[in-house]
Amino acid sequence: MDQIAVRAPAKINLALDIKGLQADGYHQLETIMQSVSLCDHIYLKKTNRGIKLTNSVPGLPEDNHNLAYRAAELIFNQYYRNGSIEIHIDKKIPVAAGLAGGSTDSAAVIKGINLLFGLGLDYPQLLELARAIGSDVPFCLKGGTAFAYGRGDQLVQLPDLKKTWLVLVTPPKEVLTAVVYQQYDLIKPELTIPMEDLKGIIKNGQNIYWNEGWNNVLEPVTAGLIGDITEIKEMLKEMGAIFTMMSGSGPTVFGVMPDREQAEQACQKWPRSTDSVFPVYTYKQDFRE
Ligand code: ATP
Repeated sequence: MDQIAVRAPAKINLALDIKGLQADGYHQLETIMQSVSLCDHIYLKKTNRGIKLTNSVPGLPEDNHNLAYRAAELIFNQYYRNGSIEIHIDKKIPVAAGLAGGSTDSAAVIKGINLLFGLGLDYPQLLELARAIGSDVPFCLKGGTAFAYGRGDQLVQLPDLKKTWLVLVTPPKEVLTAVVYQQYDLIKPELTIPMEDLKGIIKNGQNIYWNEGWNNVLEPVTAGLIGDITEIKEMLKEMGAIFTMMSGSGPTVFGVMPDREQAEQACQKWPRSTDSVFPVYTYKQDFRE
């Protein structure tokens, strides 16, 4: 085998709370993460010319500023000196959208190189590499549904959610994650998120009753920076969404839809042509130890 294709699914946050600041300056998160069916496609090919990366989105870094490149560099440095690879990323996940696009590409490269070069690394070894790259990369290794805490890199895997259809809407606005967190520190919105109860609902395999308990403390912050968030939530509700919430630090908003048909219809009829709109469903964990 000298080439391999790997899927890299996007993630959303079904709940996100901040518990304070850690000693290392990172915000101490508590979040329930969920992978969804919107995927980047990563193509890996053995070569003999070092690491070469291309991608389908103009302007996205193709050197070691790309998290996927960094993943290859790290795994080769530690486990396969002078390894060479060609990486092509067919990007489908909007960039800087709160969907962990870079992190999931990076996790896919770690898993792909492990397979392609027959390195035989086990999950704890892959996890250590993932943690060294970024906070969301550990979740992206396994995907599915998980509770994450610390800077988001400490994980407790939860049972897979019942397949649920959603619509993702990404407005064409850039919100820098760092700015959202700075703004959060100034505002500290008063929201109570019953995280233990929410985890309990998923652990017990109960049908989710989408009420205000499912919330994201960063949503009012980003909504204060760009008006699109509130507008998109209203529009999603008009299109039949049972529940709406912003993912991560935004600006992507998701709507939970009653079924596939309504998810697809909402996307076809979406009135703002500048938004990127995707019908997606929740993914199960795709990597087992
Ligand atoms: P998160 O939800 O983890 O905060 P995000 O979805 O908001 O992430 P990304 O799509 O990962 O954000 O992009 C954030 C930044 O990372 C971008 O500015 C981009 O230049 C850089 N980046 C590096 N590698 C990648 C990659 N493979 N795909 C997308 N962005 C990348």
